[in-house]
Amino acid sequence: MLSCSVLKDAFYVGADGLVAPCQGICDTGFAKHFLNLKEQRLCDILKESEYVRLSYTTVGDVRRGNDECRKCEYIDRCTGSCRNSALMAEDNYYGVDPDACYFFRNGWEERIKAAAQPAYEAYLKRNNLHADNQPDTLNAKPLCI
Ligand code: SF4
Repeated sequence: MLSCSVLKDAFYVGADGLVAPCQGICDTGFAKHFLNLKEQRLCDILKESEYVRLSYTTVGDVRRGNDECRKCEYIDRCTGSCRNSALMAEDNYYGVDPDACYFFRNGWEERIKAAAQPAYEAYLKRNNLHADNQPDTLNAKPLCI
């Protein structure tokens, strides 16, 4: 699955009863694929629906969905990022997330790591910990399929 925690771990219920992966996606033409609590029971929506199918979107689906992600050197870090951004940008659920492209192609991942490093080292020192015995959280790869 994608690294999007919203897609994996939560769902959005609109004031109108629409059940969707997130609020943003309700503003796209994609909203027509989702079911409504006024018409279906939540347990049925979560069992078998477009919402459930989309929740199991994989990085492989995004790779197959567009040439740019398929050839991208950052795919293992980005994992396709936000499907709503892709929809907003090019009306393709399996398309490119331009915000993720900007983030990775402009070195923001490294910049954020560099900015976090002093605080991480201070945390280790304050708690009398050693980096060798800690999970490498700053360089952890997202778990994706
Ligand atoms: S950085 Fe852009 S092109 Fe690369 S995998 Fe992410 S969304 Fe796709």
